[in-house]
Amino acid sequence: MAPKFSPFKDTLWYATAPEAPQTRPLLGEVTADVCIVGAGYSGLTTALELARQGVSVVVLEREEIGFGGSGRNAGHCTPTFTHYSLPELHKVLGAPWAERLIHRQTRANDKVSEMIARYGIDCEWEQNGYVQGALFPSHLKTLERQVESYNAVGARTRLLDRDEVREVTGSARFYGGWMHEEAGGLNALAYARGLGRAVLSEGGQIYTGSGVTGCDREDQAWVVKTQRGSVRAEKVIYTTGAYTVAGWPRLDQTFRIMRVFVAATQPLSPASQAVVLPKRTTIQDGRGDIYVYKYNRENRIVASMFPMGARGRDPAYTRKVLSDRLKWLHPDLREELRWEFFWYGELDMQRRTVPRLYGLAPGVVAMTGLSGRGVPTGSMIGGILSDWAMGVPEADLDLRLEPLSRQPHYMRIAPQAALRGYRLRDGLRALRQRAPLPPHA
Ligand SMILES: Cc1cc2nc3c(=O)[nH]c(=O)nc-3n(C[C@H](O)[C@H](O)[C@H](O)COP(=O)(O)OP(=O)(O)OC[C@H]3O[C@@H](n4cnc5c(N)ncnc54)[C@H](O)[C@@H]3O)c2cc1C
Repeated sequence: MAPKFSPFKDTLWYATAPEAPQTRPLLGEVTADVCIVGAGYSGLTTALELARQGVSVVVLEREEIGFGGSGRNAGHCTPTFTHYSLPELHKVLGAPWAERLIHRQTRANDKVSEMIARYGIDCEWEQNGYVQGALFPSHLKTLERQVESYNAVGARTRLLDRDEVREVTGSARFYGGWMHEEAGGLNALAYARGLGRAVLSEGGQIYTGSGVTGCDREDQAWVVKTQRGSVRAEKVIYTTGAYTVAGWPRLDQTFRIMRVFVAATQPLSPASQAVVLPKRTTIQDGRGDIYVYKYNRENRIVASMFPMGARGRDPAYTRKVLSDRLKWLHPDLREELRWEFFWYGELDMQRRTVPRLYGLAPGVVAMTGLSGRGVPTGSMIGGILSDWAMGVPEADLDLRLEPLSRQPHYMRIAPQAALRGYRLRDGLRALRQRAPLPPHA
């Protein structure tokens, strides 16, 4: 049988992150106030918030810290929502939930910066901003609305005109752009491991190689079981995301997996750096079927996109797409590109692409569905999950607590169909507005 998840050790981050803190499998029974299942950003930031408030907390991780999306993502940390504008989010979530989540998400990078500074996390954090380019003239109106709605909730964003966007990104392909000044980028696994170290330094416990096999109510406590041990806790929080394996019945049916890939070039020469992202921002080329890239500390371009249909399974073809697009956006880039690292990962996609908090039983919750924006979201979500564990009333939480629900059957094909739809829409726009599209679009 094919492995359920993509290989973990192919990533640039695995090759370059500082070592993981020392942890070991759980043997025997331990007791804690709160047991957290899953050592990704969501679980670790929750553990950190709780440990800082003096709550005893145990994190159980099936593999190693950051094994899931948190150790293998592209490292873009843009405190926005992937698929919704803020007015759309108000329609989807309603009051007061939209407002609360927007507040948390738009301040998420303050949280990231604070944790990195407080615990001295060495994870290549650079807060140089994010640019969403406009490849079609009509996109500028949308970007204007983005400036208005994001700035109204306190974000620092601005519209870039054609000259400014060229100056910032080095690309003359865009009609303008949207700059989000607070966005940043990091080494994904280094950040996860650093959060793990922070949890330990605050007195939290982390057991790795300790997959949860079940959770039962016994003598007024929850007993969370692994193969060789168990944790007795008053409260249990599942943060197992796209990498959920067992742990709680049907939790893995709350989302559908969508694969995405990330690739990194060789370190680019100073001449190339002068023409590609001279201000070291992150950039998204503005199409629905996204192409996002930034530099890492070694000056490699780290790019991510969704595999292109059946051909996307061929790494040689995909490397060519990546290079052709980068060269189209930056024709002055003369250096031959070698994509030295190339890896895949899994996203937990839900119909509504915002995190969802499920009440599994009294004293047990789960959160899944970060749907591809998990660096800022996973970083701020610890604040919400720890509020729940500290007894904040349901009505005052920043996520609505809902019963566990399966994703509808159409979610098997919906994310892929949406990608096709975006490509079609962009193709039509390009035709109507006589705006060239990047190669292979
Ligand atoms: C390739 C890729 C690129 C991405 N790029 C970006 C990006 O650039 N920017 C961005 O914001 N987001 C990005 N994302 C999304 C982001 O990485 C995720 O949304 C986020 O890391 C999810 O964090 P998490 O803590 O919720 O879950 P995860 O990090 O997936 O952690 C869940 C953990 O639970 C563990 N687990 C599962 N079952 C059990 C069990 N039974 N017992 C114990 N442990 C268990 C898993 O082993 C895993 O370590 C990307 C994702 C991928 C895959």
